[in-house]
Amino acid sequence: MCGIVGGVGNLPVREYLIKGLKTLDYRGYDSAGLAYADHKGIHVFRTPGRVSDLDAILPHEIRTSIGIGHTRWATHGAPTEANAHPHSSMSGVFVLVHNGVIENYRHLKNKLEAEGFTFKSETDTEVIANLL
Ligand code: GLU
Repeated sequence: MCGIVGGVGNLPVREYLIKGLKTLDYRGYDSAGLAYADHKGIHVFRTPGRVSDLDAILPHEIRTSIGIGHTRWATHGAPTEANAHPHSSMSGVFVLVHNGVIENYRHLKNKLEAEGFTFKSETDTEVIANLL
């Protein structure tokens, strides 16, 4: 079972998301990641390891107040960095995390590939980012 935490507003987003993901630790997971947005764009960090490994690869200071975090329990694709959430659309406009399974993802992926979309992961989740 994965975990999702999101924050927006006047909060220390780095600490808020890491603390939230650690709180969800009991649910079990195989990889972790987060994304935050600032004036330079959307920044994504992912690891096939633990939340503490994610914490270790984040910039020390994050000056923003919007972000999402995820702990993954793989259903589509191995627990690798490429398959860890968040996932981005090809355009980079959409970045998302997801809990569960997209039953018709193969159908959707085939359709999107026929339209020229390419994918960086084996997940069902990335299909949604590009579908948007
Ligand atoms: N189906 C998605 C994946 O394999 C989400 C799994 C989950 O709920 O963590 O990445």
